Amino acid sequence: MKDILFYGGIAVDTLSSHEVLTPVFKEIETILGKDTYDMWLRPAAFQFTDKTLKIELPNPFWQKTIQNRYEHIIKDAFLKHTGLDIAVVYEIKEVKDPVQSVLDEAQVPLPPVAAPAPVIKKNPFPACLNSSYRFDNFIESPSNRFAYRMAEAVVNQLGNRQNNPLFIYSAPGLGKTHLLHAIGNQILQNNPGARVLYKSGEEFVNDYIDAALSKDKESFRRKYHHLDCFLMDDIQFVVGTTRVGSEAEFFYTFNTLFDNKKQIVLTSDKTPQELQLDPRLSSRLLSGIVTEIKLPTVETRIAILRQKRDSINFDIGDDVLSFIAEGIQTNIRELEGSLFRLVSYCSTHGVTPTIAIAKELLADILIQQERKLAVHVNAIKKVVGKHFKIEMEDFNSKRKTQSVAWPRQIAMFLTTELTDLSLPEIGREFNRDHSTVVHARDLVKDKVKADPFFAAEINQIIADIKAVDKK
Ligand code: ADP
Ligand code: MG
Repeated sequence: MKDILFYGGIAVDTLSSHEVLTPVFKEIETILGKDTYDMWLRPAAFQFTDKTLKIELPNPFWQKTIQNRYEHIIKDAFLKHTGLDIAVVYEIKEVKDPVQSVLDEAQVPLPPVAAPAPVIKKNPFPACLNSSYRFDNFIESPSNRFAYRMAEAVVNQLGNRQNNPLFIYSAPGLGKTHLLHAIGNQILQNNPGARVLYKSGEEFVNDYIDAALSKDKESFRRKYHHLDCFLMDDIQFVVGTTRVGSEAEFFYTFNTLFDNKKQIVLTSDKTPQELQLDPRLSSRLLSGIVTEIKLPTVETRIAILRQKRDSINFDIGDDVLSFIAEGIQTNIRELEGSLFRLVSYCSTHGVTPTIAIAKELLADILIQQERKLAVHVNAIKKVVGKHFKIEMEDFNSKRKTQSVAWPRQIAMFLTTELTDLSLPEIGREFNRDHSTVVHARDLVKDKVKADPFFAAEINQIIADIKAVDKK
């Protein structure tokens, strides 16, 4: 075999002409799992000469990890597929500091995002799916449970009128794209011949423009109209008042599939109301299931980080994971990006991750998060005041009638929940001492626990406060 130099990142994808090494690296990737392969081997450079595989790595720590954990797997894979009992040697080469490069590249999470996953070969329809987004690695939690269950239901009852279309919306980074791919992957696993297509809204629009320019709407329609399941991500790029052409084409695609009882799943980072849909499209689009993914709880965030840690096989303590999960609350993509940033830094520098390192390294993201979360007392008073029809000054007045006192107590309770203010600080905001705040907080909390209707009302008020506060 002649000398060959390649990178872990491109070995599997581009060595297809090299029939000897492709199966070796495919096998290694399968055994290690995609995340571990991406973390440890994709960034490495390999040189294969005679019976020796040289691996170039950024530091001794990295070498130790591969040597101790993965070398035997690499050797076995070579033996199995080439019959060669190879030697593995290492060379340390400086690489660009990944933390700096992350900062340079405006927070691209490290390590590099995995290449699109292989599509099942026998199927002649390219589904454009990423096999690393699956149901089995999606953490179910109260905030996404309904969406998750409906996604599973769709797979089992494709095109069933009741769940068609399924419309999932949420703020960015909360798992919409993951669920869409999970649906597609599962359908293909159950039925490798199924015609499934994943497209982002942007891709759909680009396809539409290409078709319009080349006056070839037929091939566009052939592609989109003969599917068993159409997974359309980020529909906000396709519909709305400024998207007349693509919205009409989408409507046509939607109707064709829908009338043929084919499954459609849509996502959006806007609520259906915010999308400002054409009313005809709106009534059809929302005639199936509409569900929101809400912000994950801290337990969910920790569970997601643990799963990621285990999948990349990196030693990082639960205390550090909890610290990251406490700090990053609004976006799972940022949560994972932060973990990768920390892991990359620690493996490059050969240090064990600690809370102190995380604090330092993630300072910029943590501050951003705090800003996003800080709710102002005024927003709370404004929303509660509107809800209960009382005036702003009533919150600070001495009036004790129940119609004023109860909303005031609710506002104090919400201030303890939604801000970082201390009890005396909250007391000052309401012209009271801190024991009154404690009393109000406990009173409202008890009612929330005892009365689900009241709890729902409070949840709605919180959502309104967050919406007002964002403006
Ligand atoms: P969205 O499409 O809503 O912006 P994504 O689906 O791209 O969000 O999710 C962002 C990242 O967070 C992805 O890497 C995804 O795998 C991960 N993620 C989101 N929700 C979960 C979850 N419940 N369990 C595991 N990973 C999740
Ligand atoms: Mg997405």
